[in-house]
Amino acid sequence: MDSTEFGRWSHAAADWSTGYLEGVGKRPVRSRNAPGSLLEALPAEPPMAAESMEEIFADFERLIPGGMTHWQHPRFFAYFPSNAAPAAIVAEQLAASMAAQCMLWQTSPAATELEIRMIDWLRQSVGLPDTFSGTFQDTASTTTLSAVLVMRERALDFRGNSEGLSGQPRLRVYASGRTHSSVDKALWIAGLGLENLVKIPTDEGPLFPMQVHELEAAIAADRAAGHLPAGVVVCIGGTSTGATDSAREVIAVARREGLYTHVDAAWAGSAMICPEYRHLWEGVEEADSIVLNPHKWLGSSMECSAHFVRDPESLVRTLAIQPEYLKTRGADGVVNFSEWSVQLGRRFRALKVWFLIRAYGIEGLQAMIRNHVDWALALCERLRKEPDIEIVTEPVLSLFSFRHHPPGIDDLDAHNLALIERINNDGRIYLTQTRHDSVIAIRFQAGQFDTTESDLDIAFDAIRELAATD
Ligand SMILES: *Cc1c(COP(=O)(O)O)cnc(C)c1O
Repeated sequence: MDSTEFGRWSHAAADWSTGYLEGVGKRPVRSRNAPGSLLEALPAEPPMAAESMEEIFADFERLIPGGMTHWQHPRFFAYFPSNAAPAAIVAEQLAASMAAQCMLWQTSPAATELEIRMIDWLRQSVGLPDTFSGTFQDTASTTTLSAVLVMRERALDFRGNSEGLSGQPRLRVYASGRTHSSVDKALWIAGLGLENLVKIPTDEGPLFPMQVHELEAAIAADRAAGHLPAGVVVCIGGTSTGATDSAREVIAVARREGLYTHVDAAWAGSAMICPEYRHLWEGVEEADSIVLNPHKWLGSSMECSAHFVRDPESLVRTLAIQPEYLKTRGADGVVNFSEWSVQLGRRFRALKVWFLIRAYGIEGLQAMIRNHVDWALALCERLRKEPDIEIVTEPVLSLFSFRHHPPGIDDLDAHNLALIERINNDGRIYLTQTRHDSVIAIRFQAGQFDTTESDLDIAFDAIRELAATD
């Protein structure tokens, strides 16, 4: 592809993206593809000869968008959001053109320094003290894995990487039973084993926080059994229903016990740009490590996970490999962010954060999040007044759950699963379910950039209409 052709197709892609974003609200939110339908449409073998961009682009338009679930749809109310604000999309195109590889300062000095500054802009925006620095990881899962690896290495005086875990006491990590499955996975991958993730029971709703006296008891029992407590994961805004621990109380126990603390605020952390929600993570400034995902609610597009740490040195001691060819020469004092992450090669994530924050301003982003929270609360109250709908978990920020509970239905779980299927097949909105304690509940969250209040009216109508027809 020569530069003339590159220019032509880049413009075609930009035009396509513009039309897509203008029209996405008219598509069904969830793809209607049957399983295997794209596979059937694709040739089984790769082409030996080059094909024209006309054909490639036409196939893209014909085959791909209809097979996508539209996370940019203003009535995407499922899971948590994953937004790509237009300013961030533009930055991604620029970063892609440079094939930026940001592993060392010298492999992309501007990228490293922009990352330092963007992490600091975010730090200020969410009200964390300047004792925190950080980096952009790809996802919260990798960030949590990095934190669990630090827990392991600290507990073993940084000998785990060289000596391995055999012959060591059992290392123990604590979290509430309502933390994200990425914490489980981090324990597998760190070699600690899921049995050593001690799930602490939680208190009552709406926040379902970890029972701190149970945490203390579990640590004491483990020490008595000769195990080695290593760290605690604090949950702020859990994925199922927004479960939120008391950061202040949990971290106080952990610090007294000498344990490393990691705060998973992957979703809720974005809302902390609004001071009025910061009570949800009150005490967080004492944590060792915090993750929040600008790619969820702030619009930075996948993958962009902000990892704040109070003591970067323990992260670097855990994750830095320094073969001769990677040693920075002649640039003392510079940061090499590959030493802060599991992966070596790193994308240029700071560029989209820079574009995003400047294009909306912190005030613009705050206004968006406040709207989502207010509109979700209003929808919750409207649904509460409906005779056959019960609120299962109360709103935490813009997330709540409900179920349809008409008289005379024996199997309410099956009834609600069928209702979700009808809602999602209808196409106006997209919702997902969760199992809360023993019941199936329908989750609702508002978090898409272009969502308006009238989109929540449509959600109300769709839920009410489809609940009345089975
Ligand atoms: C989404 C989410 C995660 C996982 O985030 P990824 O970036 O997809 O790995 C972890 N924890 C919580 C609370 C989440 O909401």
